[in-house]
Amino acid sequence: MISEDQVRALAGHRGSCVVTSCYLDVDGRHHPRHADYETQLDHLLREAREKAVAFGPEAVRSVAADLERISAWVRAGFDRSHVRGLAFFACSADGFFDVVESPLPVSNEIVVNHTPHVRPLESILQAYERFAVVLVDRQRTRLFRFELGELTEHTEVFDAVPRGGDQAGHPGQGSRSAHVQRHSEEVAHRHLKHAADVAFTELQGHPVDHVILGGPHEIVAEFEGHLHPWIAQRVAARLVISAAAGPDEVRQAALSVEAAVTRRDEAALVGRLRDAVGTGAGVAGLAATLAALVERRVDLLLISDGYEPEGWRCPSCRYLGPIGRRCPVCANPMDLVDDVVEEAVEEALTNKCRVRMVRENADLDVLGRIGALLRF
Ligand SMILES: [Zn+2]
Repeated sequence: MISEDQVRALAGHRGSCVVTSCYLDVDGRHHPRHADYETQLDHLLREAREKAVAFGPEAVRSVAADLERISAWVRAGFDRSHVRGLAFFACSADGFFDVVESPLPVSNEIVVNHTPHVRPLESILQAYERFAVVLVDRQRTRLFRFELGELTEHTEVFDAVPRGGDQAGHPGQGSRSAHVQRHSEEVAHRHLKHAADVAFTELQGHPVDHVILGGPHEIVAEFEGHLHPWIAQRVAARLVISAAAGPDEVRQAALSVEAAVTRRDEAALVGRLRDAVGTGAGVAGLAATLAALVERRVDLLLISDGYEPEGWRCPSCRYLGPIGRRCPVCANPMDLVDDVVEEAVEEALTNKCRVRMVRENADLDVLGRIGALLRF
């Protein structure tokens, strides 16, 4: 499982030689057979061998050893049931090798550079929010958690707590139908109230960011009325889905709500950035954002996914800028880097700033594809 600490540790890695970073999509839905992603891996390895040449003979040797180790790891086999992507970080010259198994998909990519290429991992971590799905009907309640692309059912929590009082007022033989009807209404009512109480205890114990409710419309509406405000304010969607739905159907529903929530959150952040730029509490565009980062004023860095402009990095004082070659801070010559945003992300993570990759947001593109909310 990926953790924030692991990504920060990778971002801070500095070695004596180049690092090979390899992302491999092993998602069973894209690649049903092992041979499918092994072919993809061979393409990536060939690409890395070519890229290593530019870094000199020592790098070529180190990268060749990295590739052998990555290839051996993949071909030795691994459990694909919960792994949809792999990320390898290797520097054989330093004896460094790290594998991250991602429960979310990754895009195939191989990078040879002085530092590990962590942006795709950071993007996965930032996009990940915890969801609960609660399905209700008149008789039963089911609870699922949807986290890092994995759906797990936790319906047993409703059995663990006795309902109490269910048997009271049970209609005897010969009751009239109106009485039975009223009784069954009462039972359904108590069932929903009980389910709401248990859901609160469970979700407060292991919190989630969003709750998805599903079931017949009027039952969901009543259930929502019983929910503690802590849960009620986390309700992200109400779906007409059967309480008997299979795991695939629940998972698909959770995925589509997750995508909608992500788009909404990103739009809100870009809106905040636009306002902040107006008041001086934010900056937008590459030059202004890199300057704020170097001055350690960044709180949250927002980047359009896929924005990879060239730029300059000072090896002496870590200055980053769009224009070279002399460092405006220490006057030393700087290095040209093919993706200065990658350097910016590493710098931000090292300084404990938050980083958010934004997909398909035209407003951020208009602002220059990168921007930052400032601490001061
Ligand atoms: Zn400098």
